[in-house]
Amino acid sequence: MPKIYLIDVTNRDGVQTARLGLSKLEKTMINIYLNEMGIFQSEFGFPTTRHEINYLRANLELAEIGVIKPLRLGGWIRAIPADVETTFRNVPDIDHLSLSISTSDQMINGKFQGRKTKDDIIKDMTEAVDATRAAGAESIAANAEDASRTDINYLVEFGLAAKEHGADRIRYCDTLGYDNTFTIYDNGRTMAEKIGLPIELHCHNDLGMAVANSIAGAMGVIDGGQDAYINTTINGIGERSGNADLIAVILAAKKSKDIAQRYELAGPIALNKAYKIAKFASYAFEVPIPINQPGVGSNAFAHESGIHADGVLKDPENYELYNYEELGRGEAEFVETGREICTGEYGGISGFSHVMSKLEAPVKFPDREKASEILELVRYANVESQKPLIEDQLLFIAKYPGIAKKLLTLTPLA
Ligand SMILES: [Zn+2]
Repeated sequence: MPKIYLIDVTNRDGVQTARLGLSKLEKTMINIYLNEMGIFQSEFGFPTTRHEINYLRANLELAEIGVIKPLRLGGWIRAIPADVETTFRNVPDIDHLSLSISTSDQMINGKFQGRKTKDDIIKDMTEAVDATRAAGAESIAANAEDASRTDINYLVEFGLAAKEHGADRIRYCDTLGYDNTFTIYDNGRTMAEKIGLPIELHCHNDLGMAVANSIAGAMGVIDGGQDAYINTTINGIGERSGNADLIAVILAAKKSKDIAQRYELAGPIALNKAYKIAKFASYAFEVPIPINQPGVGSNAFAHESGIHADGVLKDPENYELYNYEELGRGEAEFVETGREICTGEYGGISGFSHVMSKLEAPVKFPDREKASEILELVRYANVESQKPLIEDQLLFIAKYPGIAKKLLTLTPLA
């Protein structure tokens, strides 16, 4: 039976969102947390963007030494041979790529403005797939941008051409959040049946339907006999009104009426890491989690009105569909209300040693020299993120100083 796999695109769609961004260390922490959760793949960045190079290489190194494993790390580029060439020059060890090109009449006319025909689109894409294959990539997804506004027959033609040239998956992008559950189910099913490849669902939330559409699309793909891949972002952060929220997609796949009985989410997924990853993304993006966010919002398990409070006290299942402990919630959070020493870009050795010795897993340095080396990296990490680092980041730097140094090296390359 085909399954649903999750590809989180926070480190690609999330960071390309207006007004929002992540430091390279923050992107790395997200890959580490996605790996801990058992997510299938992280779309971890842009191999043709120069300031991403050290970060991408460093994360592949972390995969190599088993720190980020078995999570797949995939890059996103345009489906043109020139981008493939740049990618393998910048990041030679990259194994997984998504090659993106617009397929709708709107984009062909409105974006390319007569410079490309539908045949040119397929030609660019197949040449890019060929080049990626030749460069030795392990998996290739051909992305149809604005697929939901593309004629389905052309999408099938696009998919068949990609398949013929060795693509492993087709990404169906509902780039503008235009689909509904019925249309995306039909398109997912048709593509799975007629192309005969796994289909990825990339849904946006402009009409508030990203999670529902992702699930419905995946149901269509699986009913069409293929594996389905759902693109998510943490807290739904993404272009405009965002993408399908990672936690809500997992909850919907596991808890919605009849779905878990009929469709299998590939795993195991450690849902108990949900609260941690949502809180980290909120801290890193500096965007609060909405109070009513599924599973991780502060009201997700709060009850006040008489009938509800009484009901939930008698039996939580009266008014809760799932338990807060399943999401890794329920532990008291420690907030310092007295004197506090922070790490920072202008910090010194004594404050830093104090912070490190007070961590839940305290770090003691063998000598002052080692402490100074780590402090210097922490300073640079602070320069990049402009906020005090959290414990996991400090521990990461102390444990992998060589890799942290690469992440923090942002000097424009010659
Ligand atoms: Zn997108």
